[in-house]
Amino acid sequence: MPAMAEIIHPLRRSVFRGITGHCPACGQGKLFWKYLKVNGRCEVCDTDLARYPADDGPAYLTILLIGHLVVAPMLFFSIVWRSNPAYSLPIILVPLAGLTLALLPRVKGGWVGLMYSLGVKDTDAHLHTADAAD
Ligand SMILES: [Zn+2]
Repeated sequence: MPAMAEIIHPLRRSVFRGITGHCPACGQGKLFWKYLKVNGRCEVCDTDLARYPADDGPAYLTILLIGHLVVAPMLFFSIVWRSNPAYSLPIILVPLAGLTLALLPRVKGGWVGLMYSLGVKDTDAHLHTADAAD
């Protein structure tokens, strides 16, 4: 049985700083240097930000959030079903893609903040339970 990760830094503060795009350690340095590229080191506190893995987690969580909070409730409106798809699909999909792309860096920032809070680093392969099943 692999060891569970323990909270070693304040969880809420670290995740919130990540969501806002700031370093989860100091809250002042930038987390990203490009759209989804995490800075190697914080320019303010020199924390090694690249060590906290995100992998596919932020993408899955973003899809989960958009699917449950936007797409599923939208399907309750009959206009979605009755309208001509040639008009309704672009009207629906373009803002949905924009919302997804706007949410993704915030989710990834929160994810990196969560990994920082739990102290999970890219070298913690023992926490990857899927690998143990192989
Ligand atoms: Zn920092």
